[in-house]
Amino acid sequence: MPFDLSSRLAERRAAHLYRQRPLLESPQGVRVMVDGQPLLAFCNNDYLGLANHPKVVEAFTQGAQRWGVGGGASHLVIGHSGAHHQLEEALAAFTGRPRALLLSSGYMANLGTVTALVGQGDTVLQDRLNHASLLDAGLLSGARFSRYLHNDPESLGSRLAKTSGNTLVVTDGVFSMDGDLARLPELCARAKAAGAWVMVDDAHGFGCLGPQGGGIVEHYGLGSEDVPVLIGTLGKAFGTSGAFVAGSEELIETLIQFARPYIYTTSQSPALAWATLTSLQLLRDENWRREHLQHLIARLRQGIQSLGLQLMDSPTPIQPVLVGSSARALMMSAALREQGILVTAIRPPTVPKGTARLRITLSAEHSLADVDHLLTALEQANRRVSGALHD
Ligand code: PMP
Repeated sequence: MPFDLSSRLAERRAAHLYRQRPLLESPQGVRVMVDGQPLLAFCNNDYLGLANHPKVVEAFTQGAQRWGVGGGASHLVIGHSGAHHQLEEALAAFTGRPRALLLSSGYMANLGTVTALVGQGDTVLQDRLNHASLLDAGLLSGARFSRYLHNDPESLGSRLAKTSGNTLVVTDGVFSMDGDLARLPELCARAKAAGAWVMVDDAHGFGCLGPQGGGIVEHYGLGSEDVPVLIGTLGKAFGTSGAFVAGSEELIETLIQFARPYIYTTSQSPALAWATLTSLQLLRDENWRREHLQHLIARLRQGIQSLGLQLMDSPTPIQPVLVGSSARALMMSAALREQGILVTAIRPPTVPKGTARLRITLSAEHSLADVDHLLTALEQANRRVSGALHD
């Protein structure tokens, strides 16, 4: 039988790597209804709690009335509406760059940008732990592709010594499964000295880092000469969906001409772009959301440390608890769920073998009492799972 899908699925199941989709029966948020069960969730990326903010919902409704629901066509045909255009201008101003380009998802922004900038004869250097969309983009580009050790400027430096053609250094700003920050000042200095460009995917940094939510670049005080290509996604702290690339006039024109995932797809819903204008305003102006998140992060880290569980080096709302085996991660996640708490077990191939984890994410919608509730449940889950594994 040429396509033996059932064996393939059975193998995945046997290795505790089978993925399932919980069915969300309520709006996104920290209190959700999943598969008929009310749960306190610590696994969405709505870090600032904007996905259902009444002002964002209202803007979405108004946007639908004014600009319509469907994009209707690709941007280059007749899908580029005033709503998209205003959002691009606002994102350019927010990032302090001449222009921004709106795409339908972060995955497409990464594929489109890398493949438009490098090709055969060029070089792309990436952090080993970059998001899958960046790694896929590197492979698709046809450029010489090499991965340096995680967040290691020395390792990047040794690869920069052996490049050909145009060289693009690509890194997550905040690593999506670990929550740590890219060592951008050192990485950028190495790249600049070698004449390479740096592209940062700051999907998880925008909204959370920097005094005005300007992300990792704002956090470190870096400029466009350090990071000429800056990617943000809108499905996380912005609470909507889509992505943008911010950069020079020439960069954005190059993407409009050559980025296939931009050119050959329907534009995102104009109503969504309109709603994102409102969420951008809230993200920038409501500093209390970032401050509250910092309190939640501190409380959670302190609590997890005192439980003797293993945290990662993360100052962000992504706070993974390292568990080790996939089986143990699944058991911990199930034990939490029995106590009304939803935390996803992240397993290979999303993370390296032997590093399965509970990926806890915090949102400004959580209260300190929610964090305490999670800590109590984690203690119990850990005790139960340790007991079961020793039996
Ligand atoms: N980059 C990173 C670092 C991500 O974590 C994600 C999504 N999890 C993406 C890109 C893809 O973004 P989107 O969900 O908008 O496709």
